[in-house]
Amino acid sequence: MKIKKKIIVSFGTRPEIIKLAPLINILKRKNYNFKIVNSGQHYSKNMSEVFLKKFKIGKISYDLKLGKKNSSIKFMNNFFLKFQKILIKEKSDILIVQGDTNTCVTSALAAKNLNDKNGYNIKIAHVEAGLRSYDSSMPEEINRIAVDHISDFLFTPTLIQKKILLNEGIQKKIVIVGNTISDSLKKIKFKNFKNKDFFLLTIHRFENVNNKKRLIKILNIIDKVANIYKFDVIFPCHPNTQIKIKKYKIVLSKKIKLISPINYDKFLILLKNSKIAFSDSGGLQEEACILKKHLITLRNNTERPETIIINSNFLSMLNEEKVIKRIKEILNGEVHWTKNPYGKNVSNKIISYINQY
Ligand code: UDP
Repeated sequence: MKIKKKIIVSFGTRPEIIKLAPLINILKRKNYNFKIVNSGQHYSKNMSEVFLKKFKIGKISYDLKLGKKNSSIKFMNNFFLKFQKILIKEKSDILIVQGDTNTCVTSALAAKNLNDKNGYNIKIAHVEAGLRSYDSSMPEEINRIAVDHISDFLFTPTLIQKKILLNEGIQKKIVIVGNTISDSLKKIKFKNFKNKDFFLLTIHRFENVNNKKRLIKILNIIDKVANIYKFDVIFPCHPNTQIKIKKYKIVLSKKIKLISPINYDKFLILLKNSKIAFSDSGGLQEEACILKKHLITLRNNTERPETIIINSNFLSMLNEEKVIKRIKEILNGEVHWTKNPYGKNVSNKIISYINQY
Protein backbone atom coordinates (compact mmCIF):
# COMPACT_ATOMS: atom_id res chain seq x y z
CA MET A 1 0.00 0.00 0.00
CA LYS A 2 1.33 3.41 -0.92
CA ILE A 3 1.77 6.18 1.57
CA LYS A 4 -0.89 8.92 1.48
CA LYS A 5 0.96 11.19 3.88
CA LYS A 6 2.60 14.37 2.68
CA ILE A 7 6.39 14.19 2.62
CA ILE A 8 8.81 17.12 2.52
CA VAL A 9 12.41 16.46 1.47
CA SER A 10 14.75 19.28 2.43
CA PHE A 11 18.34 19.85 1.26
CA GLY A 12 20.72 22.67 0.42
CA THR A 13 24.24 21.39 -0.24
CA ARG A 14 26.18 19.22 -2.66
CA PRO A 15 26.47 16.16 -0.39
CA GLU A 16 22.78 16.29 0.52
CA ILE A 17 21.76 16.39 -3.15
CA ILE A 18 24.05 13.44 -3.93
CA LYS A 19 22.83 11.33 -1.03
CA LEU A 20 19.11 12.19 -1.22
CA ALA A 21 18.84 11.93 -5.02
CA PRO A 22 18.25 8.15 -5.14
CA LEU A 23 15.56 8.48 -2.49
CA ILE A 24 13.85 11.38 -4.29
CA ASN A 25 13.88 9.41 -7.52
CA ILE A 26 12.06 6.52 -5.83
CA LEU A 27 9.46 8.94 -4.43
CA LYS A 28 8.98 10.31 -7.95
CA ARG A 29 8.87 6.93 -9.68
CA LYS A 30 6.35 5.57 -7.22
CA ASN A 31 4.22 8.70 -7.32
CA TYR A 32 4.43 9.63 -3.69
CA ASN A 33 2.85 12.80 -2.40
CA PHE A 34 5.99 14.86 -1.78
CA LYS A 35 7.58 18.27 -2.19
CA ILE A 36 11.23 19.27 -2.44
CA VAL A 37 12.72 22.27 -0.66
CA ASN A 38 16.17 23.56 -1.64
CA SER A 39 17.51 26.12 0.84
CA GLY A 40 20.26 27.14 -1.58
CA GLN A 41 22.98 26.83 1.08
CA HIS A 42 25.31 25.83 -1.74
CA TYR A 43 24.42 28.24 -4.48
CA SER A 44 27.06 28.11 -7.20
CA LYS A 45 26.27 26.18 -10.37
CA ASN A 46 29.11 23.72 -9.87
CA MET A 47 28.11 22.93 -6.26
CA SER A 48 24.37 22.59 -6.82
CA GLU A 49 22.81 22.84 -10.29
CA VAL A 50 25.12 20.30 -11.95
CA PHE A 51 24.18 17.73 -9.29
CA LEU A 52 20.45 18.44 -9.60
CA LYS A 53 20.78 17.89 -13.35
CA LYS A 54 22.99 14.81 -13.05
CA PHE A 55 20.47 13.05 -10.83
CA LYS A 56 17.45 14.37 -12.80
CA ILE A 57 15.87 15.82 -9.68
CA GLY A 58 13.46 17.86 -11.81
CA LYS A 59 11.08 20.35 -10.32
CA ILE A 60 12.08 21.90 -7.01
CA SER A 61 8.84 22.93 -5.30
CA TYR A 62 10.53 25.60 -3.18
CA ASP A 63 13.85 26.87 -4.53
CA LEU A 64 14.74 29.38 -1.82
CA LYS A 65 18.23 30.54 -2.90
CA LEU A 66 19.12 31.72 0.61
CA GLY A 67 22.82 30.84 0.72
CA LYS A 68 24.38 33.60 -1.29
CA LYS A 69 26.09 36.38 0.68
CA ASN A 70 24.44 35.34 3.95
CA SER A 71 26.38 34.50 7.11
CA SER A 72 25.53 31.10 8.64
CA ILE A 73 23.37 32.63 11.35
CA LYS A 74 21.50 34.89 8.95
CA PHE A 75 21.00 31.98 6.57
CA MET A 76 19.64 29.72 9.32
CA ASN A 77 17.38 32.44 10.67
CA ASN A 78 15.88 33.23 7.24
CA PHE A 79 15.56 29.60 6.30
CA PHE A 80 13.90 28.63 9.61
CA LEU A 81 11.11 31.16 9.11
CA LYS A 82 10.56 30.40 5.43
CA PHE A 83 10.70 26.65 6.01
CA GLN A 84 8.11 26.73 8.80
CA LYS A 85 5.70 28.55 6.50
CA ILE A 86 6.23 25.81 3.89
CA LEU A 87 5.64 23.03 6.44
CA ILE A 88 2.38 24.69 7.49
CA LYS A 89 1.20 25.45 3.95
CA GLU A 90 1.93 21.93 2.75
CA LYS A 91 0.27 20.32 5.79
CA SER A 92 3.37 18.17 6.06
CA ASP A 93 3.30 14.81 7.83
CA ILE A 94 6.88 13.65 7.31
CA LEU A 95 10.12 15.59 6.90
CA ILE A 96 13.16 13.84 5.44
CA VAL A 97 16.59 15.37 6.11
CA GLN A 98 20.09 14.05 5.53
CA GLY A 99 23.44 14.44 7.26
CA ASP A 100 24.76 17.32 9.31
CA THR A 101 24.48 20.62 7.45
CA ASN A 102 22.95 23.90 8.57
CA THR A 103 20.06 23.16 6.20
CA CYS A 104 19.52 19.78 7.82
CA VAL A 105 19.49 21.03 11.41
CA THR A 106 17.41 24.13 10.62
CA SER A 107 14.76 22.07 8.79
CA ALA A 108 14.50 19.61 11.67
CA LEU A 109 14.33 22.39 14.29
CA ALA A 110 11.61 24.19 12.32
CA ALA A 111 9.46 21.04 12.32
CA LYS A 112 10.15 20.32 16.00
CA ASN A 113 9.21 23.86 16.97
CA LEU A 114 5.85 23.51 15.18
CA ASN A 115 5.25 20.18 16.91
CA ASP A 116 6.09 21.55 20.36
CA LYS A 117 4.49 24.99 20.20
CA ASN A 118 1.68 24.64 17.70
CA GLY A 119 0.43 21.09 18.14
CA TYR A 120 1.66 19.78 14.79
CA ASN A 121 2.75 16.18 14.41
CA ILE A 122 5.43 16.24 11.73
CA LYS A 123 7.57 13.11 11.93
CA ILE A 124 11.26 13.82 11.32
CA ALA A 125 13.29 11.18 9.45
CA HIS A 126 17.08 11.55 9.67
CA VAL A 127 19.09 9.83 6.94
CA GLU A 128 22.70 9.09 8.01
CA ALA A 129 21.97 9.24 11.74
CA GLY A 130 24.31 8.42 14.61
CA LEU A 131 27.62 9.67 13.19
CA ARG A 132 29.93 11.09 15.85
CA SER A 133 33.46 12.48 15.63
CA TYR A 134 33.37 13.49 19.31
CA ASP A 135 34.94 16.76 18.20
CA SER A 136 32.61 19.52 19.32
CA SER A 137 34.67 22.17 17.51
CA MET A 138 33.13 20.84 14.27
CA PRO A 139 29.88 22.67 13.43
CA GLU A 140 28.69 19.43 11.77
CA GLU A 141 29.03 17.50 15.05
CA ILE A 142 26.70 19.89 16.86
CA ASN A 143 24.23 19.76 13.97
CA ARG A 144 24.04 15.98 13.76
CA ILE A 145 23.68 15.51 17.53
CA ALA A 146 20.80 18.01 17.57
CA VAL A 147 19.05 16.38 14.59
CA ASP A 148 19.41 12.88 16.03
CA HIS A 149 17.91 13.94 19.33
CA ILE A 150 14.80 15.46 17.76
CA SER A 151 14.18 12.87 15.03
CA ASP A 152 11.49 10.20 15.06
CA PHE A 153 13.08 7.80 12.57
CA LEU A 154 16.86 7.44 12.61
CA PHE A 155 18.40 5.65 9.64
CA THR A 156 21.97 4.64 10.49
CA PRO A 157 24.65 3.32 8.14
CA THR A 158 25.89 0.54 10.44
CA LEU A 159 25.51 -1.05 13.86
CA ILE A 160 28.23 1.28 15.20
CA GLN A 161 25.96 4.31 14.80
CA LYS A 162 22.93 2.48 16.20
CA LYS A 163 24.91 1.65 19.36
CA ILE A 164 26.00 5.29 19.67
CA LEU A 165 22.38 6.45 19.54
CA LEU A 166 21.25 3.84 22.05
CA ASN A 167 24.08 4.86 24.39
CA GLU A 168 22.90 8.47 24.15
CA GLY A 169 19.50 7.28 25.37
CA ILE A 170 17.64 7.83 22.12
CA GLN A 171 14.45 5.79 22.29
CA LYS A 172 12.95 6.60 18.91
CA LYS A 173 12.97 4.18 16.01
CA ILE A 174 16.55 3.39 14.94
CA VAL A 175 16.97 1.37 11.75
CA ILE A 176 20.28 0.16 10.27
CA VAL A 177 20.03 0.62 6.51
CA GLY A 178 23.52 1.34 5.11
CA ASN A 179 24.36 4.58 3.32
CA THR A 180 22.42 5.96 0.35
CA ILE A 181 25.76 6.86 -1.26
CA SER A 182 25.92 3.24 -2.44
CA ASP A 183 22.78 3.93 -4.54
CA SER A 184 24.19 7.22 -5.87
CA LEU A 185 27.36 5.49 -7.03
CA LYS A 186 25.33 3.17 -9.24
CA LYS A 187 24.66 6.15 -11.52
CA ILE A 188 28.30 6.55 -12.53
CA LYS A 189 29.77 5.17 -15.74
CA PHE A 190 33.42 4.62 -14.93
CA LYS A 191 36.29 4.94 -17.42
CA ASN A 192 39.86 3.75 -17.22
CA PHE A 193 42.75 6.21 -17.58
CA LYS A 194 46.06 5.12 -19.08
CA ASN A 195 48.01 7.24 -16.62
CA LYS A 196 47.02 6.51 -13.05
CA ASP A 197 50.08 8.05 -11.45
CA PHE A 198 48.42 10.93 -9.68
CA PHE A 199 46.96 11.80 -6.30
CA LEU A 200 43.55 13.37 -5.71
CA LEU A 201 43.03 16.05 -3.07
CA THR A 202 40.03 17.82 -1.54
CA ILE A 203 39.99 20.10 1.51
CA HIS A 204 37.02 22.03 2.82
CA ARG A 205 36.38 21.34 6.52
CA PHE A 206 36.02 24.46 8.63
CA GLU A 207 38.77 23.40 11.06
CA ASN A 208 41.22 22.92 8.19
CA VAL A 209 40.52 25.97 6.06
CA ASN A 210 39.74 28.54 8.74
CA ASN A 211 43.16 28.02 10.29
CA LYS A 212 45.94 29.40 8.11
CA LYS A 213 48.71 27.42 9.82
CA ARG A 214 46.80 24.16 9.53
CA LEU A 215 45.94 24.70 5.87
CA ILE A 216 49.57 25.48 5.06
CA LYS A 217 50.67 22.39 7.00
CA ILE A 218 48.30 20.18 5.00
CA LEU A 219 49.45 21.63 1.69
CA ASN A 220 53.10 21.19 2.71
CA ILE A 221 52.56 17.50 3.53
CA ILE A 222 50.83 16.96 0.18
CA ASP A 223 53.61 18.80 -1.65
CA LYS A 224 56.23 16.69 0.11
CA VAL A 225 54.64 13.34 -0.82
CA ALA A 226 53.93 14.51 -4.36
CA ASN A 227 57.62 15.28 -4.76
CA ILE A 228 58.76 12.00 -3.20
CA TYR A 229 56.62 9.97 -5.62
CA LYS A 230 56.81 12.43 -8.52
CA PHE A 231 53.02 12.46 -8.80
CA ASP A 232 50.86 15.44 -9.67
CA VAL A 233 48.04 16.20 -7.27
CA ILE A 234 44.66 17.10 -8.74
CA PHE A 235 42.86 19.43 -6.37
CA PRO A 236 39.18 20.15 -7.18
CA CYS A 237 38.89 22.98 -4.74
CA HIS A 238 35.76 23.86 -2.75
CA PRO A 239 34.74 27.55 -3.17
CA ASN A 240 35.33 28.31 0.54
CA THR A 241 38.83 26.85 0.35
CA GLN A 242 39.60 28.91 -2.76
CA ILE A 243 38.59 32.04 -0.87
CA LYS A 244 40.87 31.14 2.05
CA ILE A 245 43.86 30.30 -0.17
CA LYS A 246 43.50 33.74 -1.72
CA LYS A 247 42.97 35.47 1.62
CA TYR A 248 46.04 33.82 3.22
CA LYS A 249 48.05 34.56 0.04
CA ILE A 250 49.15 30.91 -0.19
CA VAL A 251 51.14 30.08 -3.30
CA LEU A 252 50.60 26.44 -4.27
CA SER A 253 53.50 24.26 -5.35
CA LYS A 254 53.68 23.32 -9.03
CA LYS A 255 52.78 19.74 -8.20
CA ILE A 256 49.35 20.75 -6.86
CA LYS A 257 46.94 21.47 -9.70
CA LEU A 258 44.03 23.49 -8.35
CA ILE A 259 40.80 23.30 -10.38
CA SER A 260 37.23 24.37 -9.63
CA PRO A 261 34.81 21.78 -8.21
CA ILE A 262 33.90 19.24 -10.89
CA ASN A 263 30.77 17.25 -11.58
CA TYR A 264 30.05 13.94 -9.89
CA ASP A 265 30.98 11.69 -12.81
CA LYS A 266 34.27 13.47 -13.44
CA PHE A 267 35.15 13.48 -9.77
CA LEU A 268 34.47 9.80 -9.22
CA ILE A 269 36.30 8.83 -12.40
CA LEU A 270 39.29 10.77 -11.07
CA LEU A 271 38.96 9.04 -7.70
CA LYS A 272 38.70 5.61 -9.29
CA ASN A 273 41.82 6.22 -11.39
CA SER A 274 43.93 7.95 -8.74
CA LYS A 275 46.67 6.18 -6.80
CA ILE A 276 45.58 7.59 -3.45
CA ALA A 277 43.08 10.24 -2.38
CA PHE A 278 43.74 12.78 0.37
CA SER A 279 40.72 14.50 1.81
CA ASP A 280 38.85 15.83 4.81
CA SER A 281 35.49 15.08 3.19
CA GLY A 282 32.89 12.90 4.86
CA GLY A 283 31.30 11.40 1.78
CA LEU A 284 34.64 10.60 0.21
CA GLN A 285 35.43 8.24 3.09
CA GLU A 286 32.43 6.17 2.07
CA GLU A 287 32.94 6.45 -1.70
CA ALA A 288 36.63 5.50 -1.52
CA CYS A 289 35.77 2.53 0.70
CA ILE A 290 33.06 1.28 -1.69
CA LEU A 291 35.20 1.86 -4.81
CA LYS A 292 38.23 0.14 -3.24
CA LYS A 293 40.37 3.28 -3.41
CA HIS A 294 42.83 4.17 -0.70
CA LEU A 295 42.04 7.29 1.28
CA ILE A 296 44.16 9.28 3.69
CA THR A 297 41.90 11.50 5.78
CA LEU A 298 43.39 14.91 6.57
CA ARG A 299 41.94 15.06 10.06
CA ASN A 300 42.58 13.90 13.63
CA ASN A 301 39.26 12.09 13.98
CA THR A 302 36.43 10.66 11.94
CA GLU A 303 32.73 10.01 12.40
CA ARG A 304 33.10 7.02 10.06
CA PRO A 305 35.17 4.59 12.21
CA GLU A 306 33.91 1.64 10.15
CA THR A 307 36.28 2.74 7.36
CA ILE A 308 39.26 2.75 9.76
CA ILE A 309 38.28 -0.66 11.15
CA ILE A 310 38.23 -2.28 7.71
CA ASN A 311 41.43 -0.41 6.73
CA SER A 312 40.16 1.52 3.68
CA ASN A 313 40.79 4.83 5.42
CA PHE A 314 43.68 6.21 7.48
CA LEU A 315 43.70 9.17 9.83
CA SER A 316 46.71 11.32 9.00
CA MET A 317 46.66 13.32 12.26
CA LEU A 318 48.55 15.77 9.99
CA ASN A 319 51.70 13.81 10.79
CA GLU A 320 54.05 13.75 7.83
CA GLU A 321 55.93 10.61 8.90
CA LYS A 322 52.72 8.66 9.45
CA VAL A 323 51.43 9.73 6.03
CA ILE A 324 54.65 8.72 4.26
CA LYS A 325 54.64 5.32 6.04
CA ARG A 326 51.02 4.69 5.04
CA ILE A 327 51.67 5.62 1.41
CA LYS A 328 54.59 3.18 1.36
CA GLU A 329 52.35 0.41 2.68
CA ILE A 330 49.65 1.19 0.15
CA LEU A 331 52.05 1.29 -2.80
CA ASN A 332 53.67 -1.96 -1.61
CA GLY A 333 50.25 -3.61 -1.80
CA GLU A 334 50.03 -4.19 1.96
CA VAL A 335 46.64 -2.52 2.54
CA HIS A 336 43.50 -4.50 1.66
CA TRP A 337 39.82 -4.75 2.41
CA THR A 338 37.11 -6.82 0.86
CA LYS A 339 33.55 -5.94 1.83
CA ASN A 340 32.25 -2.46 2.43
CA PRO A 341 29.79 -1.78 5.26
CA TYR A 342 27.42 0.53 3.36
CA GLY A 343 24.80 -1.89 2.03
CA LYS A 344 22.71 -1.94 -1.14
CA ASN A 345 19.31 -0.53 -2.14
CA VAL A 346 19.48 1.67 0.90
CA SER A 347 17.05 4.33 -0.35
CA ASN A 348 14.47 1.63 -1.04
CA LYS A 349 14.82 0.33 2.51
CA ILE A 350 14.26 3.84 3.89
CA ILE A 351 11.15 4.46 1.81
CA SER A 352 9.74 1.02 2.68
CA TYR A 353 10.27 1.76 6.34
CA ILE A 354 8.56 5.15 6.14
CA ASN A 355 5.76 3.51 4.19
CA GLN A 356 5.20 0.90 6.91
CA TYR A 357 4.94 3.55 9.57
N1 UDP B 1 32.50 15.89 -5.09
C1 UDP B 1 32.22 16.20 -6.41
N2 UDP B 1 33.04 17.09 -7.08
C2 UDP B 1 34.13 17.66 -6.50
C3 UDP B 1 34.42 17.31 -5.15
C4 UDP B 1 33.59 16.44 -4.47
O1 UDP B 1 31.25 15.70 -6.98
O2 UDP B 1 34.82 18.44 -7.15
C5 UDP B 1 31.58 15.00 -4.35
C6 UDP B 1 32.20 13.81 -3.68
O3 UDP B 1 32.23 12.69 -4.55
C7 UDP B 1 31.30 13.57 -2.49
C8 UDP B 1 30.75 14.93 -2.17
O4 UDP B 1 31.04 15.75 -3.29
O5 UDP B 1 30.20 12.74 -2.81
C9 UDP B 1 31.40 15.41 -0.92
O6 UDP B 1 31.05 16.67 -0.66
P1 UDP B 1 31.80 17.47 0.47
O7 UDP B 1 33.16 16.93 0.64
O8 UDP B 1 31.61 18.90 0.13
O9 UDP B 1 30.91 17.20 1.75
P2 UDP B 1 31.02 16.16 2.93
O10 UDP B 1 30.84 14.79 2.34
O11 UDP B 1 32.33 16.34 3.59
O12 UDP B 1 29.87 16.52 3.80
